[in-house]
Amino acid sequence: MRTPNAVARDYYGILGVSREASDDEIKRAYRKLARQFHPDVNPDPEAQEKFKDINAAYEVLSDDRKRQIVDLGGDPLAPGGGGAGPGGPGGAGPFVGFQDIMDAFFGGAAGGARGPRPRTRPGADAILRLELDLNETAFGVEAPITVDTAVLCTTCSGAGTAAGTHLATCEACGGRGEVQSVQRTFLGQVVSARPCTVCQGYGTTIPHPCPTCAGDGRVRTRRSLTVKIPAGVEDGMRIRLAQQGEVGPGGGTAGDLYVEIHERPHDVYSRKGDDLHCRVTVPMTAAALGTRLTIKTLDSEETVDVKPGTQPGSTLRLRARGVPHLRGTGRGDLYVHLDVRTPTKLDADQERMLREFAKTRGEEVAELTKQGGFFSRMRDAFNGHA
Ligand SMILES: [Zn+2]
Ligand SMILES: [Zn+2]
Repeated sequence: MRTPNAVARDYYGILGVSREASDDEIKRAYRKLARQFHPDVNPDPEAQEKFKDINAAYEVLSDDRKRQIVDLGGDPLAPGGGGAGPGGPGGAGPFVGFQDIMDAFFGGAAGGARGPRPRTRPGADAILRLELDLNETAFGVEAPITVDTAVLCTTCSGAGTAAGTHLATCEACGGRGEVQSVQRTFLGQVVSARPCTVCQGYGTTIPHPCPTCAGDGRVRTRRSLTVKIPAGVEDGMRIRLAQQGEVGPGGGTAGDLYVEIHERPHDVYSRKGDDLHCRVTVPMTAAALGTRLTIKTLDSEETVDVKPGTQPGSTLRLRARGVPHLRGTGRGDLYVHLDVRTPTKLDADQERMLREFAKTRGEEVAELTKQGGFFSRMRDAFNGHA
């Protein structure tokens, strides 16, 4: 069991960094020493001890809570002195519980507040979803949007006070925004600061709040804006409108507004990057003989030739008939996928002509009967009875 007055180890000294060292400096110092003293490179038993110390120091100083215990003269790795001790958290006997000490150190969840916090703070970013058609994402559009954000309160211009009145210094904390308390722990006297509950840490109170914003300095409003969507934007892209987001508390600078593009699926075209794809049905005869198709593109009509003997699954490519490239010149392509259709019903005449046609090509076409069906004929064919 550790004695209450045990001397804490000098973790900063072990890593050779100053007490003000940043997280980065600590990490760099640790890496350098760890490389030097790692048992794989340095089998010397002394080096192994040193390597353990280096790891312990890094474990402590890379953890904000443990580092604060060190800064207050404690040792978070000492048994009973920290959460990792063998007895588990919690001091025993005459000492206060571990959580009490942590609370005394850190003022609960509030962290180490120093001085009053400002009433005026920057606002948050806002995001808005905008649905557009393919034609709009492809060629750009000026889209009207409705934005629901906090804006500056015009009654008090963000001050939060009613006309002709002012902020008052908080009497509970004397304007410091925090109240201090002293607690006796096994580490000695610990002075902790908690945010003042009367003024919520601002150090000031508003005796007469602005009637419009109730002292917040901002109000929620619905506004109409126009956002310029450039040609070639894609689904999921975000357009940033600087300082059109939420105004901060106390009338603080507004955050940005992001307009996220959502492209509605198109009836005819599917989009892959800046290329477009569509399907066109071509009768078997037209695919065999060749034909001419009129294709409606996004912004024009094109005539394309289907070559004689075109196979199912063939693709025609119309260069630069896709989506214009964003912030650039040129466009993607339009791919026309050809679905070659076999006729599903033939009348007697058509069937006769098609059989005739097959015969001229020397193609053997088995005739289906009501009884036998195709598969029994196939079997006969394989058995040499065809
Ligand atoms: Zn106060
Ligand atoms: Zn106001």
